[in-house]
Amino acid sequence: MVIDTFHNEYKMKLVMLGNTGVGKSSIVERYVFGRFVPMHHTSTIGAQFNTKRVDDKYRIDIWDTAGQERFRTLIPMYVRNSHIVVITVSIEDSKDSMNEQIEYWLKYFKDNTYSHVSSSTYRVIVVYNKIDLAGSVVPSVKQDKSASLDTEISVKVALSCKTGRNFDVLTKAIETACAELESTLTPISYKTVKPSSEEGFMRRIFGSC
Ligand code: GDP
Ligand code: MG
Repeated sequence: MVIDTFHNEYKMKLVMLGNTGVGKSSIVERYVFGRFVPMHHTSTIGAQFNTKRVDDKYRIDIWDTAGQERFRTLIPMYVRNSHIVVITVSIEDSKDSMNEQIEYWLKYFKDNTYSHVSSSTYRVIVVYNKIDLAGSVVPSVKQDKSASLDTEISVKVALSCKTGRNFDVLTKAIETACAELESTLTPISYKTVKPSSEEGFMRRIFGSC
């Protein structure tokens, strides 16, 4: 006997935006591989691409810029059709500077993701990174829905990529965004085949879409 089961996988695109040195690549590293590698090489020009699977249900393709952000010449393909944008700032910068950066990258995102007709098809997450540099006090990043910027931001999180503090909040925010956007996507259907002669052996074959 052969047991067939189907399950759906949703392909999400996540793009990391923010100035050079704020910790974007470090965030991807911790999110995908669960580790912090100090002294990341930011100088290499080229696309950094990673995939993370969540709950066997979401396949998140993560696009990280590798140097292009410095010259503001990001290739729009990084941004196009993204479902989730993670805008990162570093708390080493002043509040005004952080707000300016968030505004800049949010506008950049919206200008380049023109295939989206409304904000209901994407989520914006803002990360205030490097809170380990602020000592034991976690800077307050409370949502203020009356502020014009905040109405477009789903979640704001202050964390340390270095120590891992609050990183789970970001992980959870990405998961929530996936769940919220699921209904706007067409899933890829996979068929799992389990031959009874080989108990415990699961073979996955690509099924119909
Ligand atoms: P990117 O240019 O935005 O990709 O930034 P990177 O991920 O390359 O990080 C820039 C520098 O900041 C590197 O030296 C990292 O090790 C450091 N860094 C990243 N996250 C943190 C953090 O949470 N705390 C501290 N203290 N340093 C960090
Ligand atoms: Mg980088």
